[in-house]
Amino acid sequence: MLISNLKHSPKGGAGRGLLIMLLALGVMQVNAQDLSHYKRVIKELSSAKYQGRGYAKGGANKAGKFLQKEYQKAGVDEVTLQPFKLDINTFSGKMEMKSLTPNPSPVRDGKTWKKLTPGVDFSMREYSPGVRGEFPVYHVDTLNYDADRMFADLAKPEYANCLVACEFWFTYRHSKDFQRLQKAGECNNAGLIYTWPSPIKFFKAYGHRVVDKPIIWVTPEAIKDVQRVKLDVDNKFLKDYECFNVIAKIEGQRHDSCYVFTAHYDHLGNLGKKIFYAGANDNASGTAAIVTLADYYAKNRPPYDMYFLSFSGEDANLRGSEYFANNPIVPLSQIKYLFNIDMVGDNNPVQYCECSEEGMRGYQLFEQINNEKKYFTSLHRGDLAANSDHYPFATRHVPCIFLENEKGDAFQYYHTIYDTYQTVKFDSYEPVFRLVRDFIEKY
Ligand SMILES: [Zn+2]
Repeated sequence: MLISNLKHSPKGGAGRGLLIMLLALGVMQVNAQDLSHYKRVIKELSSAKYQGRGYAKGGANKAGKFLQKEYQKAGVDEVTLQPFKLDINTFSGKMEMKSLTPNPSPVRDGKTWKKLTPGVDFSMREYSPGVRGEFPVYHVDTLNYDADRMFADLAKPEYANCLVACEFWFTYRHSKDFQRLQKAGECNNAGLIYTWPSPIKFFKAYGHRVVDKPIIWVTPEAIKDVQRVKLDVDNKFLKDYECFNVIAKIEGQRHDSCYVFTAHYDHLGNLGKKIFYAGANDNASGTAAIVTLADYYAKNRPPYDMYFLSFSGEDANLRGSEYFANNPIVPLSQIKYLFNIDMVGDNNPVQYCECSEEGMRGYQLFEQINNEKKYFTSLHRGDLAANSDHYPFATRHVPCIFLENEKGDAFQYYHTIYDTYQTVKFDSYEPVFRLVRDFIEKY
């Protein structure tokens, strides 16, 4: 659009004014176009077509194929797929839970089974097996906790084959006791129920294994006073499931070093047949951001080669980035700077960052640019953590930064069914884009 406008603009005195006007217009058009491109990619990836970009229904790989085409459309020089395998526990079959309380209202026969909604009232621990049957519920007395008494109670016939319900962080603080309750043959309980405040979350990070007994996450309201539950939950463990990273390359003026952009495109997949985790903020937002950056740099040749790495397997514990870091297609020592963009679909005016030790010199420049241009009110740097795809590179001494928007209105929906195209925010896209672009001009 910009280029064709310029080609047809008249030359000369009056024309120069028009040219300047067109240039100004053109710049605005590019930004508007980037934002609409950004939104379109997020909308696509968070749609039902990709079923939360998980594994059992092939959504992650379908999303990878979509990205391959997007990079090609953007006009990058090369797109390759880097396959790798992972073991992953999935839930894409039956997902039913019913609860029984002694005096429900309205009171009918004194007892009524209540149907709970997956993703709203309950979800599954990622390493839980499937579970079927009717179970008594034993509520742990956390106010007067006594482990011996609990184990003695659980040995009583009325609690045979029960589910032990307890607040999650309490089980975490008493992990020795509760690990015993997860093991087959250790106690008479059939499984565990962890309570977690609404909105209920779902994870995949430790889904590379399956424990002996089922573990169900439930909101405190959904399990309060519940005496019995009925469950019908299917799991499917996928062994050596093949997925892939999508790698796009843009040739720069020099090839002895490169800039690298990373963003994971996988998410949590399904919780039962109907529910999927759209992951608009986590991380359709970062994925879309690097696609539009690729689009920009394909049209504005960069000083150095650029790689755009769309990783799979991040929510399954950084599997794609770990694989790439162990099998890099360019020596890691040649990376001038790496930008990992994860969850920028929010509206906080502060930008959260993490840096590797080697990335700290670059961080000074980010601060300098931001102080000057005020893209964000400020940058907030936290300690390096294994929370996203920059980490395998940071531990291998690559200069890098992790860019995630500070908690805004979208963050409350992190890893819930509500992280959708309707709740994702677009505010931090443009400041992130400009911050990175200015950085590359100066670094
Ligand atoms: Zn995530």
